Amino acid sequence: MTDEAASTAERKMQFLYALRSKGVTDKRVLEAMESVDRGPFITGLFSERAYEDMPLPIACGQTISQPSVVGLMTQALEITPRDKVLEIGTGSGYQAAILSKLARRVYTIDRHRRLVHEARTIFQNLDLVNITAITGDGSYGLAEQAPFDRIIVTAAAEDPPGPLLAQLKEGGIMVLPVGQSDAVQHLIRVRKTATGLEYDEMRSVRFVPLLEGLGKDG
Ligand code: SAH
Repeated sequence: MTDEAASTAERKMQFLYALRSKGVTDKRVLEAMESVDRGPFITGLFSERAYEDMPLPIACGQTISQPSVVGLMTQALEITPRDKVLEIGTGSGYQAAILSKLARRVYTIDRHRRLVHEARTIFQNLDLVNITAITGDGSYGLAEQAPFDRIIVTAAAEDPPGPLLAQLKEGGIMVLPVGQSDAVQHLIRVRKTATGLEYDEMRSVRFVPLLEGLGKDG
C-alpha cells in the first residue's frame, strides 16, 4: 500500500470510529456514510478538515453539519429503501447524499440558489441520480411531491413548520432541530400516527436558523 492509501484508510477508520463512539450504530447508516466521501462537499481552506467530526463553514455563510449529527439524524429517520424523503436545507449537499444511499428518492430545498447549483454539480459527479435539488423557501415544503415518508430539516426553527407536518405521511417520521435561540436547540423526532403526532427529544445541537424567503442570491 502507498503512504497515501494507508493514510486514507486510516482517516476513514477514524471517521467511522468517531461516528460509532457518538452513538451512530445503525449498520446501513454507517455503510452509507462510509460510501460518501465528505471531501467533495467542502472546498477551500477547510477541505483538509473534511474527515474530522466537526461542522465547517461553506459558501453563503452557512455550515456543513458535523458528521456525527448527520449520522444521528439519519439514524433517527429509520429510512427504508422505498421511502421518499424531503430535506430542508441542502447546504453543501452532504446530508442529501447520505439520504440518497438509503432512500428511493430525495428532494432537497435551499433558499440559496448558489448552494443548490453547487450541490447539483456534486450529485452529478457522484452519479447520485435519485436526488432533486430545488431553490425555494423550504418552510412551505414541496406540496407537489407530498406526502413524504420522511422529512429532515437541517436549520433550526422555533417550532416544526405547519406545512411540513401536513406533508408528512401517516406513519412518517420527521427529524429537526427546534429552539428559540442560537444557543438552546434540541433535535426532536416527530412521528405521525393515526391518532396524532408523537414527539421525542434527542440531544441538544446548534444549527443555523431557518429563515424566511430566498437568500440574496436566490
Ligand atoms: N444539510 C446541510 C447543512 C445545512 S446548513 C449539509 O449537509 O451541508 C442549513 C441550510 O439551511 C443553509 O444552507 C440555509 O441556506 C438553509 N436554509 C435556511 N432557511 C431555509 C429555508 N427557509 N428554506 C430552505 N433552506 C433554508
